Amino acid sequence: MSGILVIAEHRSGELRPVSLELIGAAQPLKAVTGGPLAVAIVGSGSANFVKSLAVAGVDEILVVPTPGGEPDPDTMAVAIAMLIESRAPGLVLLPHSVDSFGYAGAVAAAGGFGFATDVFQIRFDEGGCVATRGGYGQKVNIEVDFPGRSVAVLAVRSGAFKAPEGESTPAVTVVQMAAPRARARPIEYIEVAAGDDVDMTTAEFILSIGRGIGEEAKVAQFKDLADAVGATLGCSRPIADSGWLPKSRQVGQSGKTASACKLYVAMGVSGAIQHLAGMKHVSTIVAVNSDSAASIFNVATYGIVGDIFAVAEELRSHF
Ligand SMILES: Cc1cc2nc3c(=O)[nH]c(=O)nc-3n(C[C@H](O)[C@H](O)[C@H](O)COP(=O)(O)OP(=O)(O)OC[C@H]3O[C@@H](n4cnc5c(N)ncnc54)[C@H](O)[C@@H]3O)c2cc1C
Repeated sequence: MSGILVIAEHRSGELRPVSLELIGAAQPLKAVTGGPLAVAIVGSGSANFVKSLAVAGVDEILVVPTPGGEPDPDTMAVAIAMLIESRAPGLVLLPHSVDSFGYAGAVAAAGGFGFATDVFQIRFDEGGCVATRGGYGQKVNIEVDFPGRSVAVLAVRSGAFKAPEGESTPAVTVVQMAAPRARARPIEYIEVAAGDDVDMTTAEFILSIGRGIGEEAKVAQFKDLADAVGATLGCSRPIADSGWLPKSRQVGQSGKTASACKLYVAMGVSGAIQHLAGMKHVSTIVAVNSDSAASIFNVATYGIVGDIFAVAEELRSHF
């Protein structure tokens, strides 16, 4: 196993946050792979992102300028294949995104590489890289390994890893490529019109409810409390599965990652590992649960052993 190659992503002149998350995913793996961590940025204007990508753990930034605007899937595929050939990484991390759908599978198939999409966990064992992804509608976790493959290409779920802290002074190499004849050309990105729901990944203060609320009729009490304290209402999976709140509000492994959250209040949430996957990194976690042995208290900064309805009422009386 040699180095790691991260493919950064930009759109409409902005570096996509997943780029730094990929570096965060790669950072701890460097010790295992023993090789350098190179980050590639492909496209016109890609040199503009060098400063933002010079974060802790990065050894080299590969700038691949291309003519035109956003790189098309054919150009991305040729650029990545070229970088894999020249840098010979054992592991390639790229975003699991609408952009990579156009090229990631093609790169892996053409090179005969191992490939997995929507990956949210990566580890190494004696057999090599093992990637974890959801399966059967996120009902089970599937571990994928790549026996006999010299390179594993992993499309990584956004929000699954933390961006690294700190800067670095990596070498910067400009790599020229002959752009292929593109079969598709991005014309314009049209953002999905925002509905009346929220983006949990950008919420800084989340109040989440779990099965402890007991019945759907109780959701309103916590919605009112969340509004009063200025929090975004989130939930555990049983609440979303029951249709008591939209799926977009579910925090956890098969839901959203509370990426920007600074204060997370969990009420009536037991702290199953799949829920923790979406929030355990939050710096301040407040847990309210009547069971003093609930796992949520293992990650909580502050814990209240008590009844969520009583605590909710008391809190509400102050706002
Ligand atoms: C592949 C897979 C993916 C999954 N993805 C997710 C995910 O993304 N997000 C997620 O949340 N789960 C996910 N799950 C489900 C997860 O395993 C748990 O089942 C779920 O998180 C439990 O939700 P909960 O904590 O609300 O419910 P419970 O585990 O039932 O906990 C309810 C808690 O409420 C407490 N309580 C009850 N009444 C009160 C009261 N009056 N006052 C105070 N406390 C009270 C109880 O003590 C208990 O701790 C996933 C599972 C699988 C297999």
